[in-house]
Amino acid sequence: MAETGRRRVLTGDTPTGSLHIGHWVGSVKRRVEIQETHDCFFLVANLHAFTTRADKPEEIRQDCLEVVRDGLAMGIDPNKAAIFLQTEVPAIMQLTYLFAMLLPYNRVMRNPTLKDELTVKGLEDNYSFGFPLYTVGQTADILAFRAHEVPVGEDQVPHLELTREVARRFNKMYCGVPDKAPDEDHVELGGVFPIPEADVGRVGRLIGTDGVQKMSKSLGNAIQITDTPKQVRKKLGKIYVGIDNRQPTDPGEVDPEKNPLFQYVETFIESPDEVADLRDRYARGDNIGDGVVKVRVAESISALLEPMQERRKQYESDDVVMDILHEGCKKAIAATEETLEMAKKAASLQFFDRTVTI
Ligand code: ATP
Ligand code: MG
Repeated sequence: MAETGRRRVLTGDTPTGSLHIGHWVGSVKRRVEIQETHDCFFLVANLHAFTTRADKPEEIRQDCLEVVRDGLAMGIDPNKAAIFLQTEVPAIMQLTYLFAMLLPYNRVMRNPTLKDELTVKGLEDNYSFGFPLYTVGQTADILAFRAHEVPVGEDQVPHLELTREVARRFNKMYCGVPDKAPDEDHVELGGVFPIPEADVGRVGRLIGTDGVQKMSKSLGNAIQITDTPKQVRKKLGKIYVGIDNRQPTDPGEVDPEKNPLFQYVETFIESPDEVADLRDRYARGDNIGDGVVKVRVAESISALLEPMQERRKQYESDDVVMDILHEGCKKAIAATEETLEMAKKAASLQFFDRTVTI
């Protein structure tokens, strides 16, 4: 793999449904910026989709293509970033197994995002062995690329902390990096893995249209990239505004923590003056109904989505998306085979050379 001297980025999505505006503000917007200056690898975590839908392989396969289309629609450029499928990259699976040995079982199970996901998805008493294993797999997704930066939403920060711990432990156990070495010196001191950093977007946790949970593909509370202006208006129309039966002359709640509508105002209305004006009038109850604010937010969201929907049309053909994935997988395999060889050498596991081709 040619060395470019640029910093590496790894991030991605689980193909559990179409991408939504939470992905845009939490991670994808940053990906579109960073692809200009970094070596970017964007993963479709199709194996992780099996944690909850092992009985629906055909749907997952279709969702892989849809997630890629949505990312391209949002501005990811396949000539600048490699977009690839997790299951086509064998080094990730091998590193998952190895890293599972470096993490105490209780440490994995204590992960607050894992606990939240089990609760929110109603899986507490009945989840596969693979469900917690996916958090270990995610450490391998990142470290297989020796990534420096990981653009993600807030919910992923605990996963990234786990990744940082694995990298430190591996470098100390197998590469002779001293115990107290600062994170930024690990590679210079002989470590295989840089200690990666989370790069959380401006809005790390966009609330869903249910007004309670994080906007999520799996929860049916999302405004999708492909939603028409009518669908956007309808979804926003239902959002709870923090007070029951508010009248236009009632003082309204403008704290985004308490009124999800105002998180949308602050996130999607571009003009700071307009945001300030809406906040002021709404807080005083200056003859401003919820409907007026919802319509303004809906217009802004649809204006954001319109060029994405236009761009998405270029990628309607499955063959075009498959070609992009094929190219991306080749690049991902080259990068990760190099890492795997380094890791195997360090851990005395390198017996023979190998080449993986697709
Ligand atoms: P699922 O319900 O299947 O977990 P998801 O909507 O959480 O789906 P992921 O594929 O898990 O989507 O997340 C992809 C990326 O988007 C991650 O970096 C995640 O942090 C970010 N992200 C997802 N939802 C939001 C949100 N509501 N606000 C900000 N960032 C988000
Ligand atoms: Mg998620």
